[in-house]
Amino acid sequence: MNPLTIQDWLDQNASDPLLHRLQQCEELLWINPKATSFESVRTQLPLSYSDIEDAAARLERFAAYFAAVFPETAERGGIIESDLIRTDSAAKAVASLFDTETPANLLIKCDSHLPISGSIKARGGIYEILQYAESLAQKNGLLYDGIDYTCFDSEPFKALFGQHSIVVGSTGNLGLSIGIMSAKLGFRVTVHMSSDAREWKKAMLRSKGVNVVEHPSDYSVAVAQGREEALATPRCHFVDDEDSTTLFLGYSVAALRLKKQLEEQQITVDTQHPLIVYLPCGVGGGPGGVAFGLKHVFGDAVHCFFAEPTHSPCMLLGMHSGLHNGISVQDIGLDNRTCADGLAVGRPSAFVGELMDPLLDGIFTASDDTLYALVKLVADSENLSIEPSATAGLPGFAWLQKADNKTLKQLGLEASLAQATHIAWATGGNMVPEEERAKYYELGRLTITSLFSGRPADLRRSSV
Ligand SMILES: *Cc1c(COP(=O)(O)O)cnc(C)c1O
Repeated sequence: MNPLTIQDWLDQNASDPLLHRLQQCEELLWINPKATSFESVRTQLPLSYSDIEDAAARLERFAAYFAAVFPETAERGGIIESDLIRTDSAAKAVASLFDTETPANLLIKCDSHLPISGSIKARGGIYEILQYAESLAQKNGLLYDGIDYTCFDSEPFKALFGQHSIVVGSTGNLGLSIGIMSAKLGFRVTVHMSSDAREWKKAMLRSKGVNVVEHPSDYSVAVAQGREEALATPRCHFVDDEDSTTLFLGYSVAALRLKKQLEEQQITVDTQHPLIVYLPCGVGGGPGGVAFGLKHVFGDAVHCFFAEPTHSPCMLLGMHSGLHNGISVQDIGLDNRTCADGLAVGRPSAFVGELMDPLLDGIFTASDDTLYALVKLVADSENLSIEPSATAGLPGFAWLQKADNKTLKQLGLEASLAQATHIAWATGGNMVPEEERAKYYELGRLTITSLFSGRPADLRRSSV
């Protein structure tokens, strides 16, 4: 969309109260008016349950390889998965911060502690590299039915991959995941990063032989440059964070795994006992893939919300305006600056927002102050160290508990909210160096004690 049309849109929507609140960086909850019953749209979606199963099967094939080359995955038989933990103490602390009742069932999905790269990117990012590696091996006659995939760690495979390169643009965590995986398989790999990406991430990648290119501008530019370079290079695969269905399907497998974990913990999910999942959103592939998978597994018994920083509400803006990747947060005057690594994205994915239109219940925003405060509360109450972005889902239950009856009715939660299981998806944190953690924690302490005299402001004040 050209600048003139954006201006037209802004002029036409000058009196839109939601736009005004976004521009003020207010914390808010947006309910998606296009959400509809899953069964009514299932067959019209561009991807299906069998695509998710196909991705799950590919990860199973590689399990023996992972158990061999990444010993930290051996405990789960080479399956990259995280714990789902009950967090009664955090539930109490977070509820008190937002001045609402403690929910009966709050769980945290610890993708913050996923093996290999310590974030949700260990699902989609690694999956896309495996798919590419497998297809190259196939084309070059290195695979046959029933072959043991530990062969991917052998010389002929490494020699083949050494002739190919991988390029990705990233705010950090995707770069870590793609970089570590590609280097392990023997690919040549370049990660384009915005200069605001953390130094320790660049250093870690370089130590693994990854070529890191820094860009003075933001994430979208890093992606664009990466894409351009990849197109100009033969035998090069570009991992397109803004537009990859492969990444998306890698993330979606989480839903099948979560179903199993809920069964193991004897947690019932049905219309009377809904599952409500809060997913931190950057460009949208991670949370979108997980939500897409969950809808296929639980249908309308699952309600999915995305969480975004108040300075980078790109998916909210794209879905609310209907312009999707045709509008950026900068277009409405926001600076896209946030402490939430991975969520500092100004423009959403080209296809995720449209795919989410009928599936997503809503999106809420959180300020950096709230995120820092939550880092401290989760560390104190659960002894769990997660990064600021990973806490963004935690205010979700409070927003719903504070919502009026009309809103709950619209969501179909008016009779069932009290029996709900809430899951805040903690998306990153395990790889954060100790001194950075200490900084986050200290900022959280300061935020709680001084800035809000105990409580972040907006969510307490706001109505839906
Ligand atoms: C990437 C990331 C997300 C969101 O994933 P997207 O696919 O960009 O929406 C959330 N949290 C963390 C820590 C991330 O690195």
